[in-house]
Amino acid sequence: MLYNQILVRFGDLTLKGKNQKEFLHRLYELVAIKMEGLPVVIENTYDRIYIYLNNCEAEEVVNRLQYVSGISSYSLVVKCSNDIQTIKTTALELMKEIALKNTTFKVETKRANKNYPLHSMEVTKAVAGYVLANHSLLHVDVHHPEIKLHIELKGNDCYLYNKEIKAMGGYPVGVAGKGLLMLSGGIDSPVAGYLAMKQGVEIECIHFESTPLTSIESAQKVVDLVKKMARYAPKNRINLHMVPFKEIHMALLEQIPESYNITIMRRMMYRIATKLAEKKNCLCLINGESVGQVASQTLQSMKTINDVTNIPVLRPLCTYDKVDIIQISRRIDCYDLSIKPFEDCCTVYVPKAPATAPKIEKCESFEKKFNFEKLVDEAVEYTNSITIEQNSDLDLSMLGLEVREVIFELKNQ
Ligand code: ATP
Ligand code: MG
Repeated sequence: MLYNQILVRFGDLTLKGKNQKEFLHRLYELVAIKMEGLPVVIENTYDRIYIYLNNCEAEEVVNRLQYVSGISSYSLVVKCSNDIQTIKTTALELMKEIALKNTTFKVETKRANKNYPLHSMEVTKAVAGYVLANHSLLHVDVHHPEIKLHIELKGNDCYLYNKEIKAMGGYPVGVAGKGLLMLSGGIDSPVAGYLAMKQGVEIECIHFESTPLTSIESAQKVVDLVKKMARYAPKNRINLHMVPFKEIHMALLEQIPESYNITIMRRMMYRIATKLAEKKNCLCLINGESVGQVASQTLQSMKTINDVTNIPVLRPLCTYDKVDIIQISRRIDCYDLSIKPFEDCCTVYVPKAPATAPKIEKCESFEKKFNFEKLVDEAVEYTNSITIEQNSDLDLSMLGLEVREVIFELKNQ
């Protein structure tokens, strides 16, 4: 293959004024980490990144680039020197490689180097004429060409490419600060985490686990989902905080009227998550709530639940419908995991008629019935934190223990 580089573009990152430097530095770091172990060479310029393939498979590089937020598009390019004869012969070689049957084409030239002796149009004409004369399968079509051959003149170099491929977009993960993702084992929350990372927010994850009320597989599923999300994270890893939730769960089942059970359970989750966010320097909570999806996600419910926290709660999916969420879930390869049928603490016991318009005062009076502050503090205290690597083979079920015992033995952070 003739391509010797990948040209990486950042889209509207360039609009970010004085933050630009930090953004570009982050992006460069992210790309460098993703390319670890490959013999590529990365060149950072003020408006692009060039990855010299150095005989590395382009496919492998491209595969890794799909996990880097902040890249708007990329192209496989041939870099050559900018003398017109070299451009002509390189263009012909490239077309011989990509046009194997009767095809229409068009040449388009951009000239960033304004000192170049030929105008863009002159370069286009010279190259198109040369290619046409030496490639019998090609015809020019300036309106609807099957192949657009781009020529870019920059400095003393020339870049030729024929495709611009859309990438993840957004901002480099981490530039926006850090948030705490409330991660259940369902479809929504991993998608919410992905969208937050795409927008530049680094994440840590919190999961409320109620083993043995819930199965060990449901905890394993959460670990596996974090591994999937870690592919998008800086350094390919994410901290997961497992909160022992059984005591609170039992207390709620015993003491709270059925219709308010879920509302108050979620208020407890928010309280614990808020405390943990502060401890871990997370600036916001993130969750997979979507307006109207279930009883606890009516606006009235959200208001009543949100009342226990004063840090921002990002709900990236709040206006998404399920079809769109599933589409993203499949794209990020979480769907098959998410639909595995293990119960989590919200599904272990579903009230027949949950309140859809729960009142704050009522919640407060129900909560007075038991010493929830102590339970909340204990849950935070006994939370176990593990760092999950993209390729980690941490498998809780293999250890054959109740999840809480297992994670107690893992390093506490
Ligand atoms: P999901 O598909 O993400 O499970 P859901 O539509 O099933 O979402 P709920 O179960 O009501 O909705 O939960 C709403 C949000 O609350 C979840 O998206 C998640 O962010 C958070 N959440 C629910 N259960 C847990 C849990 N056990 N641990 C951590 N966060 C949770
Ligand atoms: Mg759920």
